[in-house]
Amino acid sequence: MTEPSRIAHTQLPEEPAASCANCAACCCQLEVMLISDTGVPQRFIGTDAWGGEVMRRLDDGWCAALDRDSMRCTIYEQRPLICREFEMGSAECLDERRGMSAIYR
Ligand code: SF4
Ligand code: SF4
Repeated sequence: MTEPSRIAHTQLPEEPAASCANCAACCCQLEVMLISDTGVPQRFIGTDAWGGEVMRRLDDGWCAALDRDSMRCTIYEQRPLICREFEMGSAECLDERRGMSAIYR
């Protein structure tokens, strides 16, 4: 019987570094208020309970501007300020990623 291969602890696979490239757009289920005009097409704009403008979300919670095949933003150049400021790798980003992985487990 061959001896099991020994892998140094530091070589064990770890959780990949947070990157939008390896993420299922976890943050695109959050409510996004429109606080400035960045050119978001009207068809993607809804209103919240207080009458404020927000990104419209579909019944399952995803932003209406998200391409569901590629999980990429279809209005990247016109995306709201809040989306621009949501920082990849930030505490909020990591929270969203953890929340999604809990759902899929
Ligand atoms: S910012 Fe974070 S949560 Fe949002 S898509 Fe990128 S990696 Fe995922
Ligand atoms: S506008 Fe784009 S980046 Fe912002 S939540 Fe929607 S799909 Fe995500």
